[in-house]
Amino acid sequence: MLFNSIIYGPIHSRRLGTSLGVELMPIDHKLCTFNCVYCECGWNEKVPHPKLPTREEVKTALEEKLISLSGEAGLDVITFSGNGEPTLHPDFLGIIEDTIALRNQYCPQAKVSVLSNSTQLGRPDVVLALKLCENRILKLDAATDEMMRCIDMPVNEQLNVATIMRWLQQFNGDFTLQTCFLRGEHNGQIIDNTTPDELAAWYKVVDTLRPKQIMIYVIDRKTPEENLSKIPREEMERIAAPLIEKGFNVSISA
Ligand code: SF4
Repeated sequence: MLFNSIIYGPIHSRRLGTSLGVELMPIDHKLCTFNCVYCECGWNEKVPHPKLPTREEVKTALEEKLISLSGEAGLDVITFSGNGEPTLHPDFLGIIEDTIALRNQYCPQAKVSVLSNSTQLGRPDVVLALKLCENRILKLDAATDEMMRCIDMPVNEQLNVATIMRWLQQFNGDFTLQTCFLRGEHNGQIIDNTTPDELAAWYKVVDTLRPKQIMIYVIDRKTPEENLSKIPREEMERIAAPLIEKGFNVSISA
């Protein structure tokens, strides 16, 4: 499933409410620094010169859409996500600055949210841009390198959980941690971030990072790897329970 325009929606998001989507990646294929086995956009494709929208094109498309929506029920959120990793856009910071100015002008109640896989948090411009937004929803699907690599298949094979954690600590807990729980198999490797060992490591990460919110969710649509199974709601509640008991704000989409 790909989003085929710079601006899409508004759609009702199960996690965010009424959301206007902004697509900074190509509209005809996915471009991401991960290649998650569960990605709704399918597998990465090798495209020599991916075409990204310019900062000006994004600004114009967003302004036109916000003008066309004036008078309708308010947006809850303007969300950057879509066909890959939005922070890969070289003008990400400028685009966020434009978006905040347009939001302030046309729909001041809406929050600006970015769903990111956390792989670009070593770049100061990306961190600055994310700090300007109201919601930073940052992915960490597993707390062990082995499971993170099985689930997310980072393009940079050297990327590890310790580095991502160090980057996430730049936000001092002011972010939403997002984790997809799943089980299955890919290329003969068992995928399961719900084992006691994996969960123990993940709880430890949560305790260290202390995110202001935690979103845990399950696969919901067709996945590129078909040998995956959805974790039942009751099990997701069991996963969340120890964190809720400690006072963490946990939402479950299952
Ligand atoms: S990080 Fe998101 S867009 Fe990238 S592969 Fe994973 S699910 Fe897909």
